Amino acid sequence: MIAPIYAASPARYDSMSYRRCGKSGIQLPLLSLGLWHNFGSRKPFEDVKDMACHAFDHGICHFDLANNYGPEYGTAEENFGRLMDTVFRPYRDELLISSKAGYDMWPGPYGNWGSRKYLMASLDQSLKRMRLDYVDIFYSHRFDPATPIEETMQALVDIVRQGKALYVGISRYPKEEAAKAYEYLAGHDVPCLLYQDRYNILDRVPQDNGQVDLAYGKGVGFISFSPLQQGLLTGRYLDGIPSDSRMARNTSLKRETLTPELLDTLRSLNDIAARRGQSLAQMSLSWLLSDPRVTSVIIGASSVQQIDDNLKSLDNRYFSDEELNEIDSLSLNLNFAL
Ligand code: NDP
Repeated sequence: MIAPIYAASPARYDSMSYRRCGKSGIQLPLLSLGLWHNFGSRKPFEDVKDMACHAFDHGICHFDLANNYGPEYGTAEENFGRLMDTVFRPYRDELLISSKAGYDMWPGPYGNWGSRKYLMASLDQSLKRMRLDYVDIFYSHRFDPATPIEETMQALVDIVRQGKALYVGISRYPKEEAAKAYEYLAGHDVPCLLYQDRYNILDRVPQDNGQVDLAYGKGVGFISFSPLQQGLLTGRYLDGIPSDSRMARNTSLKRETLTPELLDTLRSLNDIAARRGQSLAQMSLSWLLSDPRVTSVIIGASSVQQIDDNLKSLDNRYFSDEELNEIDSLSLNLNFAL
């Protein structure tokens, strides 16, 4: 008999905590893993597998994807399909897998934004790439001002009715449109499971504009993406720009972001983290998770070590008022373009 290549750790649920996702039957791990960078065709598949299995072995059972994650577009989903075939298939019912459509994916008028035509076709393609019969969550990736919101929402409703997704979510919608989306979906018996937006120590827009409260009040979970501001809120850039870092690639995280003022702030935040016995990454995740309205945070990672470092954020989620005030005074008046 051939030995299985991978057997998930029997202790995988022992150290992770799970939080109820809005008013739903779903609980999410406090840390989820996102496959935007580092899981596509430019990364060796063995590394992809090691990171995904390590995450699952530590209770991270929610994997967040989108049609265009890679790079190259589609290749994070293709690699996820390989993961399904090589390691994860026996664990399908333990995994919560999401995908999205809404940004640029293929040429022409039907490969972008929020039409029914795009969402339906894109999900079919995603399912093929990921070698899945259904996703657990399908998102409208962004609000489309040119498409009636009813068309986009009805597509999500029908996708659930077709059995291609169990739940739906929306990402980065303006507040007023998010409220309309919640109402439409609830009115069609497909309540919105999750609202996804960027929220971290340096970017507090969803807190300031009321999106976090809106989701909470409507019984919709809130999941934060880029909780480490793409790596800025870690030790990665405190002593220069490492050649293997996201900033060195200068794509979604631009070199010019790292001004002397920002670097000073990151160093001061790092000092607070050190006093708490944490790395800057750990403190940044703990800070988000200290807010009970945040259901989960979607971390990115380029190595198993980073995942391990981030998992330790679960150990110390208490902040004194003094620490919170100090973090606020350092970060709230910072003048930089995200
Ligand atoms: P993060 O803010 O967590 O940044 C991840 C990056 O930070 C890693 O790639 C790594 O950078 C660095 N890093 C992580 N942990 C550590 C550590 N412990 N020490 C040092 N450096 C560390 O998240 P992402 O920006 O990657 O976004 C996470 C996920 O959110 C995405 O994968 C995606 O699923 C989702 N997302 C959704 C969006 C939407 O529109 N809905 C938009 C963006 C993201 P390096 O690679 O340099 O090592």
